[in-house]
Amino acid sequence: MDTAAFPATTPATPQSSLDAFFKDMRGELGPDAVSTADATLGRYGEHTLPSPDNRPAAVLYPASTADVQRIVLAANRHKVQLFPISTGQNIGLGSKSPMCSGQIVVDLGRHMNKVLEVNETLGYCEVEPGVSFQSLYDELNKRGSRLMMSPTAGPPQGSLLGNALDKGGGGGAAADHFGSVCGMEVVLGSGDLIRTGDGSLEAAEHLNWHVSKYSFGPALDGLFTQSNYGIVTRAGIWLMLRPPHIEPFFFSAADDDDLDEVIELVRPLKQTNFVPTQIRVTNDLYLIAAAESNPEYAATGGRKQISDEARRALQHKHGLGAWNISGALFGASKQAVAPQIDRLRAHFTKSSKIRYIPPEEAQAVAPLDIARKNYLGMPSDGELRMLNWRPGGGTAWFLPGMPMNGQIAHQMQKHSREICRQHGLEYMVSNVCGPRFARGVHTLVFNRSDPDEAARADQCYRALAASYAERGVFVGRAPTMYQQFHQEQRMPGIVQACDAIKRALDPNGVIAPGKYGMR
Ligand code: ADP
Repeated sequence: MDTAAFPATTPATPQSSLDAFFKDMRGELGPDAVSTADATLGRYGEHTLPSPDNRPAAVLYPASTADVQRIVLAANRHKVQLFPISTGQNIGLGSKSPMCSGQIVVDLGRHMNKVLEVNETLGYCEVEPGVSFQSLYDELNKRGSRLMMSPTAGPPQGSLLGNALDKGGGGGAAADHFGSVCGMEVVLGSGDLIRTGDGSLEAAEHLNWHVSKYSFGPALDGLFTQSNYGIVTRAGIWLMLRPPHIEPFFFSAADDDDLDEVIELVRPLKQTNFVPTQIRVTNDLYLIAAAESNPEYAATGGRKQISDEARRALQHKHGLGAWNISGALFGASKQAVAPQIDRLRAHFTKSSKIRYIPPEEAQAVAPLDIARKNYLGMPSDGELRMLNWRPGGGTAWFLPGMPMNGQIAHQMQKHSREICRQHGLEYMVSNVCGPRFARGVHTLVFNRSDPDEAARADQCYRALAASYAERGVFVGRAPTMYQQFHQEQRMPGIVQACDAIKRALDPNGVIAPGKYGMR
């Protein structure tokens, strides 16, 4: 990356403070819990965004909540800046890298990775930050559990808790990952330890900690999402009783302009809860990029968006439409859900533009198989392959939403597509639809080693963000390098309120200053 355009934002922590902090930490946690090895710092500084890597000053590996408390207390003593990660698989949003070079990454996932409890009766688990989608999936299988989790379509090594704290979403009926969190243990920036909800009672047992969301006092769990107020060291996460049969379904619509009609047909299926999972309405290139690289890249030098002709040819090759609809039904058996599938077919094919994709056909289309696994509750790394669409490994995720209104959705897709075209990048989007709102997962894939392409990706992100904000549509998550930019889009009152909470819970500003624009 050309670093000239990005002034260094290294915190002005004196080397003597860092040295004293490392000495304390090696003494209190053991020598292996602190790494300043060159290769390690290089690896933890890497990300995929259109800005230079953010190399940390060190990486710490706590093994317990007590260790996390020791780290935070020492950071307060020596006034150094920490950046907590669970597993750091936040690809397209910052990966493992801190807000800026010189912060100290606290990697919770290496040692704090235990499933502490699986409650088969009440349907929840209690996990440490390092429990990944894959490890919980394996653990549930090993125990012969009747419960299932909601995986993301992202890296199977991603943390269940990290994803929930960053308000990530998943597949299946429990797709609202933060909505499934109940009861946390948190080390605040001050070093104090709290347990939220019924966990706040000093009791011999904690029967209710991970089952009741409506405990005494304000609901504090939300304070620790997308914030820098504390480090979450464990939490309860609700799981779903696996239905006897899960039947994924697929439909496609041929043209870009069909989105209006598709959204109008999807909305009632969610408002009546006829479809219990979220319904994804995903465009051609979002799916195809997991299987192909851009066939026109060499010819255009990556300066132009793929042509409509080439895009049509790829749709044809993969048996996909401009828009591809997926979801799943639950029932007692395949036969039992067959009448519901018939009703869905009748519903969607009221539009002459929508085509049913039978299960045998869907299974043979590799990009659709990723979604199928997701609905069945199986982690898969499929969508990560999108990074191969262009060389150079760059991706930034733009995550606004939109109301579930066909006309508005149509205007927004036209507008986003045009902004991507102006910047010579492809428009790739998956709309994750609920009854009223759809999260629009836009992935900007670009060549990070080409300064011109990286600069265009950066400008494209900012142009998209500015145009959505003008219509009162904000992002639901943001890449680290844009968090300050987004905070500045908000009205001053809310920024001041966030900063005031920061000062109350983390008076010395030791946890990730700058994260989500809060200092
Ligand atoms: P994932 O493994 O799901 O990709 P990350 O570890 O990258 O998640 O974390 C996603 C975001 O959540 C990052 O901004 C990170 O700082 C924050 N985060 C992750 N785990 C914790 C935690 N245990 N406590 C506080 N913040 C966390």
